[in-house]
Amino acid sequence: MGRKFFVGGNWKCNGTTEEVKKIVTTLNEAEVPSEDVVEVVVSPPFVFIPVVKSLLRPDFQIAAQNCWFRKGGAFTGEISAEMLVNLGVPWVILGHSERRQLLSESSEFVGEKVTYALSLGLKVIACVGETLEERESGCTMEVVAVQTKAIAERISDWSNVVIAYEPVWAIGTGKVATPAQAQEVHAGLRKWLHDKVSAEVAASTRIIYGGSVNGANCKELAGQPDVDGFLVGGASLKPEFIDIIKSATVKKN
Ligand code: PEP
Repeated sequence: MGRKFFVGGNWKCNGTTEEVKKIVTTLNEAEVPSEDVVEVVVSPPFVFIPVVKSLLRPDFQIAAQNCWFRKGGAFTGEISAEMLVNLGVPWVILGHSERRQLLSESSEFVGEKVTYALSLGLKVIACVGETLEERESGCTMEVVAVQTKAIAERISDWSNVVIAYEPVWAIGTGKVATPAQAQEVHAGLRKWLHDKVSAEVAASTRIIYGGSVNGANCKELAGQPDVDGFLVGGASLKPEFIDIIKSATVKKN
């Protein structure tokens, strides 16, 4: 199958130039498993992308946190996929629950964004996940399937897509999904891909977990067969992000 472990750091709307430089220094000095074992992608706020890009070690990559769903133009405040390509930013996070919830981004809109970003050669971390209310009412799989379907019905090539399963109730709350909860949804998403897209896409697409991952809980989560890595928020701003990257070695044991 050969799904390389993937660790993304979502810095969200945090940092000053000095703070960002400090995080990059920590990352640059860290001893982590090789690129053959783990793919590391950090996602600074747009305005810090150039400075991070100029300083970051070459074996780590950069993701933007969003982009516009069509060609750029008269869309004040937006950043286009073309601009990311122009800056040499290879990845973009799309459909993060903070944008779905706070900015009312629909699954269809996210699907359009994913399609457009992929068409320009960007790689996409596509986020899906249920709210607490949805989990408690027993419709977790249905919710993530609908979110994934809005992407699946628009694209045919999944090779540049990583799916991030991020339960909304676990993001920034300190309430991490149990390894069993994460594995259950990841396996369900993989089955959905198998049934609705193809066996090959199901076997090769990385499904990463996000939601209160930290240096203490990452190893057990990484040990789950369908957890192919992490999207990390709060802990990606701290030195423990290195421990999370190192959890990739769990897959080798
Ligand atoms: C995120 O926002 O993608 C995330 C996973 O946040 P946190 O790790 O802080 O829960």
